[in-house]
Amino acid sequence: SIQVDDVPMATTTAANSAIPSATTSTTTGSTNRDSRIHTHSHIKGLGLGSDGMALPISQGFVGQTQAREALGIHLGLLREGRYSGRPLLLVGPPGTGKTALALALSQELGSKVPFCPMVGSEVFSGEVKKTEVLSGGFRRAIGLRIKETKEVYEGEVTELTPAETENPLSGYGKTISHVIVGLKTVKGTKQLRLDPSIYEAIQKERVVVGDVIYIEANTGAVKRVGRSDAYATEFDLEADEYVPLPKGDVHKRKELVQDVTLHDLDMANARPQGGQDIMSVMGQLVKGGRTEVTDKLRREINKVVDRYIEQGVAELVPGVLFIDEASLATWHQGRSNALIYFDAESPMSPYVVLASNRANCVIRGTESDNGGHGVVSPHGIPVDLLDRCMIVRTYPYKLDEVRVVLETRCRVEGTAVSPEALEKLANEGIQSSLRYALQLLTPASIIARLSGRTQIEPQDVSEMNSLFLDAKRSATLLREMQGSAAGPQNGSS
Ligand code: ATP
Repeated sequence: SIQVDDVPMATTTAANSAIPSATTSTTTGSTNRDSRIHTHSHIKGLGLGSDGMALPISQGFVGQTQAREALGIHLGLLREGRYSGRPLLLVGPPGTGKTALALALSQELGSKVPFCPMVGSEVFSGEVKKTEVLSGGFRRAIGLRIKETKEVYEGEVTELTPAETENPLSGYGKTISHVIVGLKTVKGTKQLRLDPSIYEAIQKERVVVGDVIYIEANTGAVKRVGRSDAYATEFDLEADEYVPLPKGDVHKRKELVQDVTLHDLDMANARPQGGQDIMSVMGQLVKGGRTEVTDKLRREINKVVDRYIEQGVAELVPGVLFIDEASLATWHQGRSNALIYFDAESPMSPYVVLASNRANCVIRGTESDNGGHGVVSPHGIPVDLLDRCMIVRTYPYKLDEVRVVLETRCRVEGTAVSPEALEKLANEGIQSSLRYALQLLTPASIIARLSGRTQIEPQDVSEMNSLFLDAKRSATLLREMQGSAAGPQNGSS
């Protein structure tokens, strides 16, 4: 049987015909971006109670209660539309959950709300055209929810028997109901092998979903004789010309929702595929073949999107753009100024969350200013941007909290760990960082398996520590090596 719900209506409007498949937004994200989100798969929200207070352990979140509550208040402002372009800035040591908080914020906004993580060094990187990466990120973080009203057939639809396939007219009811319900799918997927001449005739007659048609036995000619809720007796036709619909058929209008991002639309239009599938149709929103996403293309897409919105076919879903290590971004470069993107009066702006684990440092791109000393600013972020930010702090974790996060990740990843090894890992988390301890889990479980153990034991963690270094140990080691290489003779420090 065919899945009739998936059948697009034959009479789609121009806007509807451009509707992409719901899977596009998930398939177009880069692997890098996906893997950045993967490590947070246990995070399902901010874990707040109905009074806005953080529950100690909830929705995958452990501790960090002040930051979660602050984000809860920020969320309230976003929901009330009182965002007014104020980015959130999360400040705290590495591995204290800044990314996890930003992701949780997007999850609280809705399950289909886009989340686009970037790192500051991508912003205005020398390799790519100035504002390109940032504007790409912005468009990845803006969703478009397209509402489509489809006429759907509910009821049993059976495949044609071989005899019916050869002579579609022998199975009137079934044949016709397939055609009526799923003209596009029938044609697109060829699930029902009808005689091609009949498709042509059906198209010529402009048969739409819900029409009752009559196919003349000898010539294969197609006639529209009414709508599906009408019965043959209402038409002035001979009894044997009627096209009866099987009993119990119901044709209903149903609202279906599909989510894509503006970036998906950009990509589909930059690389038109020239086929008949829905992505190709989407790739023809804008006329003319293009090979790259240009500002002009984006403006044209925006116009189409505006039209969808005016028609009530689509609505914008602002998501979260997360820029980690914001101190590494070059916010000013020549006459270009990335800050213009934060004038979020435009409805096509996502919610921006910045993060930094640096205290005072030189703003990138200003190194030669100020007599060659560079311009120093808190978190390496220009004061004009900093002024607009709502700043929230994250704190280092306590041993108990690290242990619970590790336990949670073990559960999610299906990794078994003994209580002693868990304790050892938790201590690593305190001495180094939570992220480091979490990163040890998978390789330690591999070592355990190779040694014939079913769970991670303390010796597996020790072996990991002899093979890999955390950031602090590797820095200390390098310093020691430099010290001994310099030697006492040349006296350099
Ligand atoms: P950096 O400054 O290095 O970018 P970060 O502050 O963004 O680090 P995350 O990447 O969010 O830190 O956290 C590291 C790992 O720990 C992630 O897998 C994250 O999901 C998990 N984690 C962090 N804090 C919590 C928490 N409070 N509860 C549960 N999991 C957490």
